[in-house]
Amino acid sequence: MFNLILFGPPGAGKGTQAVKIAEKFGWKHVSTGDILRAEVSSGTPLGLKVKAVMETGQLVSDDLLIEIMESVFVNNKDVNGFVLDGFPRTLNQAQELDLMLAKHGESVTLVLALEVDETELVKRLLNRAQEQGRKDDTEEVIKNRLVQYHHHTKPLIEYYQEKNIYTEVYGVGSIDDIFNQLVSQISAD
Ligand code: AMP
Repeated sequence: MFNLILFGPPGAGKGTQAVKIAEKFGWKHVSTGDILRAEVSSGTPLGLKVKAVMETGQLVSDDLLIEIMESVFVNNKDVNGFVLDGFPRTLNQAQELDLMLAKHGESVTLVLALEVDETELVKRLLNRAQEQGRKDDTEEVIKNRLVQYHHHTKPLIEYYQEKNIYTEVYGVGSIDDIFNQLVSQISAD
């Protein structure tokens, strides 16, 4: 099974590229942000619990995310690949993911990071706020989401570099050019 993590700050284009990669290789796209937003809009107990946290740009608790991922894996035993988009976001989540995969004789195959500078990220996120009306794309919340990224998520780069499974792709340019670069990294693996 190919277990791909699409890594990068908010606004780097992970969602867009994850959909295309999943389609090309026939893998399962897992966006924890989409899963959580669906819970919020359906008003489930989980959704009610995470709504306020998401709206301020904070991270939802590791325990909840790990629980969600366990059920994703258990319910998708037949797939031959995963594209993880937005998970893991903390060191604890990364370690738990490794344990969870190891239980099934699996491991993270590759971490592909989209590299985009901060000015471009803020510009993209503000645009997305206008286009999609996401509640967590206001300027203040965007700043907080980037702070969360730097504080909690960026340290994962070192974690995966040490495992020799981390590669960066420049994430500014046409969607198709970036996609082609990602595909060649996957194919080289
Ligand atoms: P995203 O669409 O990936 O930017 O996620 C939107 C929001 O969902 C984040 O700002 C967090 O509040 C929450 N979220 C998504 N994935 C995670 C995760 N792996 N760990 C913690 N919170 C998450």
